[in-house]
Amino acid sequence: MKINLAVSPGTTKDCKTGNWRVYYPLIDHEKCIACGTCARVCPEGCVFPVKDEKSKKIYFEKDLDYCKGCGICAEECLVKAITMELERR
Ligand code: SF4
Ligand code: SF4
Repeated sequence: MKINLAVSPGTTKDCKTGNWRVYYPLIDHEKCIACGTCARVCPEGCVFPVKDEKSKKIYFEKDLDYCKGCGICAEECLVKAITMELERR
């Protein structure tokens, strides 16, 4: 059986998909405890750890080229380190 898809599976990384976002997640690096929950729940897989070379602290950031602003990361962050902010383009 032939299945017609608009996109092929596994091509998310080939297409920047964040351009229709209305809200974006703002991550408070001071509050972040680097638990990684946001990275695990993000449906786009666009949240990643960053190491501050000066303080050696690890926090998480998002790739806005792929973030769709769904807000799941903010909803699931246990310490409320993520707030959804209105895009101003
Ligand atoms: S869920 Fe919150 S505390 Fe955990 S890594 Fe993400 S921003 Fe940091
Ligand atoms: S708002 Fe949604 S798509 Fe964007 S980083 Fe959070 S979970 Fe991922």
